[in-house]
Amino acid sequence: MSIADNIRSLKNETETIHVTLVAVSKTKSNDDILEAYNAGQRLFGENMVQELVEKYESLPKDISWHLVGHLQSNKVKYIAPFISLIHSVDSLKLLQEINKQAEKNNRVIDCLLQVYIADEETKFGLGFDEIIELLRSDEFTSLKYISIRGLMGIATNTDNEKQIKEEFYELRTFFDGIKQSYFRKQSSFDTLSMGMSSDYKIAIEQGSNMVRLGSTIFGQRVIKHWKNN
Ligand SMILES: *Cc1c(COP(=O)(O)O)cnc(C)c1O
Repeated sequence: MSIADNIRSLKNETETIHVTLVAVSKTKSNDDILEAYNAGQRLFGENMVQELVEKYESLPKDISWHLVGHLQSNKVKYIAPFISLIHSVDSLKLLQEINKQAEKNNRVIDCLLQVYIADEETKFGLGFDEIIELLRSDEFTSLKYISIRGLMGIATNTDNEKQIKEEFYELRTFFDGIKQSYFRKQSSFDTLSMGMSSDYKIAIEQGSNMVRLGSTIFGQRVIKHWKNN
């Protein structure tokens, strides 16, 4: 199947159940991205700031760009003017920097807090208790130029479907609890980003409403930016 075919069938599969499809285009060429774009895809995700900025500059301006990979504070300024959603916020310090750069650009930046759910040592993200601590802090409450839209998580890279299912279940349960306790009056807290090519069906079963798919759309990546591929 071509990239365009993949987009069409995945859009079909996800739109009817109100799951948002993010096409993760890291390492892929502008031509590949344009093929997906011409098939109707407007949401693309990248994990490297420099690559993201280059693609933003050379591709159609009605693309919404998501950052799905780890973000260093000193790079926030490059994406602050245009980024649609940052999936990978994993510290208060980073959130404060995003807030600062958003204010400079006179906008509010949508963010997801990345939750650590995997049984692996290398995954970025905050623990459940750290998220609660962050949300309760005065420093957090004073940030006016960020909007926390929800949570993101990456499951363990394993064939054990039961384990993946449990990790997504925990994240979904945590999401519901956080929404009740801290965002009851904010309908904008509505996004649960979980699921990649290998596990998105399980993620959707467990309540994901945003999936981040790379290889399912574009084929395998040659350069290994992401250690689990
Ligand atoms: C690369 C990446 C994806 C997409 O991975 P695939 O397995 O190719 O679907 C999703 N989320 C994050 C955070 C990534 O870095």
